[in-house]
Parts: sequence; C-alpha cells; structure tokens
Amino acid sequence: MVTLTALIDNGKCYELIRQHRWPEGVCCPHCGSMHIIKNGKDDTQPERQRYVCKSCQYHFDDLSDSVFAARHQPLRVWVGCLYLMGLNLSNAQIAHELDLSQNDVYKMTCDLRQGLVEKKPEVELSGEVEFDEVYVTAGHKGQPEAVKKKSVKVGDANSKGFGGGVHSKRRNHQYLG
Ligand SMILES: [Zn+2]
Repeated sequence: MVTLTALIDNGKCYELIRQHRWPEGVCCPHCGSMHIIKNGKDDTQPERQRYVCKSCQYHFDDLSDSVFAARHQPLRVWVGCLYLMGLNLSNAQIAHELDLSQNDVYKMTCDLRQGLVEKKPEVELSGEVEFDEVYVTAGHKGQPEAVKKKSVKVGDANSKGFGGGVHSKRRNHQYLG
C-alpha cells in the first residue's frame, strides 16, 4: 500500500518548517540571537540542518524546541497528518491514510492542536493581552513569599542576567516552539 507520506518529500518538509519558523533568517531558540552558524546535518535525517548559536553556544536544529522535536515519526508524517487535519478528517481516517495506529494519530493531533493553540495569542490577541515579550524574574520559582519581599523595579525589564530577570523577545512562531 502506498501511503500519502511515502509521496511527501522530507527535504521539502524541512524547507517548509524553516520558512515558517524563521522567515527572517535562523534565530536562536534559546537567546534569540541571529548570530548563527550551520553545524552539519542530523546523523539519521540528512535534510535536518543543525546550528550553533555564536552568542550563547546553544546547539539546536530545525526542529529543536518545536512541537516536532524528539518524535519517532519522520517530519513528513507530521506534515501529512497536519494536512489531513486541515481537511477535517477524523483520527480514524488519518490513521488509515497514513498507515498508523489510531493511538499514534490521537497523540499527534493533540500535540499539533496544542502547538497551534499556543501560536494564536501572537496573531490574534493584541492590546489587551501582550504575549510578545515575556518577563521572568530569576530565582523565585515556587517562592511567592520571596517575590513579595523584593520590590520589582519597572526599569529592570531590559536588564539581562541573574538577579535582574530574563527578558526574552520571542521571535519564533509559537506553534513550532
Ligand atoms: Zn543563543
């Protein structure tokens, strides 16, 4: 049986991911820097590009920190699944088309929907809810009392490093990360 995914080119899928994830050029999922160098290809998937961030030395690849990362299905199966979801097929129909178990398809569609939902605020909400920038105070996780004692300076929002808070400008498309 020839499945849909057998007809999908894995290399094209990676191109698609790169275009959507980094329309203005590859940027570091860890620090947001665009000072990136290529670092060879994945050992098992030759289309999957690896990178190193020159700013923070973070190693990542096309799928790192995305909904597609660390999955046992090849990317083209995910893209096929996403395509069929767009046609409003049921999990059972998708499982049949992709020659997968319904259980696998169920997990994949959940992951994809979750990834797509996370992307929404960036696109649809503005003014009332600001998701573009995330401000996290370092060192107070799980210690609300400690946070209360320490007054927060508004002017610190742009400082980086320990003690000042982590200021993160999210440049990636959120359904991928
Ligand atoms: Zn970095």
